Order: sequence, then C-alpha cells, then structure tokens
Amino acid sequence: MCPFRIGNGFDVHRLADGRPLWLGGVHIPHRRGCVAHSDGDVLIHAICDALLGAAALRDIGVHFPDTDKAYKDIDSKRLLEETMRLVRNAGYEAGNVDTVVCLEEPKIKDYIPAMRATLAQVMHIDVSQLSIKATTCEQLGYVGRQEGVAAYAVTILHRKLEDS
Ligand code: MG
Repeated sequence: MCPFRIGNGFDVHRLADGRPLWLGGVHIPHRRGCVAHSDGDVLIHAICDALLGAAALRDIGVHFPDTDKAYKDIDSKRLLEETMRLVRNAGYEAGNVDTVVCLEEPKIKDYIPAMRATLAQVMHIDVSQLSIKATTCEQLGYVGRQEGVAAYAVTILHRKLEDS
C-alpha cells in the first residue's frame, strides 16, 4: 500500500460586527469576527479536514458536530489536537501542511509567524512543516464583500515508521 496519503480541506465562516476574529489559533483585533458554534477558526477547521481526509477519517462535522453543546465556543486548537491524535492513532504522521486564508480585511501577514508557531506546537510538528498564506479576493464575492472568511488546506501524511 502507498505509504503517502494526500488530503484537502476547505471551510467558510460568516463575519459579523462585534464578534472576535480567531485565525490559526491567534486572536486578531478587528471590528468583525466569525459567527460559528465554535470559535469559528476557519484555518484550523480547514487543516483538520485536510488531515482527516488524508487518513479517510470522514470530516470535522462527524467528529465534532455543531449540534453538540460540548463544542459550543470551543477553542479550535482543541479540535486540532484531537484530530492529530486520531491521525496518529490511524498510523500516520503529518509530512507537511500548506494553507491559504482568503480574507479581505484586515491584512494578516504580520500574524502569520504567531499562527505557525501556535499551530505547530498544538500539532507537535516543526514550524517548517506548516505553511500559511493569505490573499484577498480583490473585492469579489462573499470574501470581497467582507461577508465571510474562507480557508483552504492540503496535507500529506506518511505511515509512521515502526520503532526500531
Ligand atoms: Mg468551520
């Protein structure tokens, strides 16, 4: 069997005035934030889905349903931690993760080092294994109108090496 597994993830959340904006496990000061059952961290949710998809372990909604009160306002870093546990239990390790955040405002590039450091620590991987990129949508569509924020993630997993 192929020792490598590729996965992709995508997530969107609606933005509303006066809500906190959490991205990549970091709070970003802004007048608008995500409307969600959890803390609405789209980047973490996309990463979780990429990891789960690569291991063929269904999706984030199956493992952490938004109808379950246990996940109300939950810190999405806990979901990522649990996702990594599921992936490792299935016999896989993350090779690398590459992501894109689509957000019109604010510019998040100055927060990316903190996001990478935060998430790498949660995932127990090296910062060099996690890439976070950002783009606007040139004022087009729901991202461009600042109605929402979206994130894409891809990952490759490899079979855990047997202890020698
Ligand atoms: Mg989500």
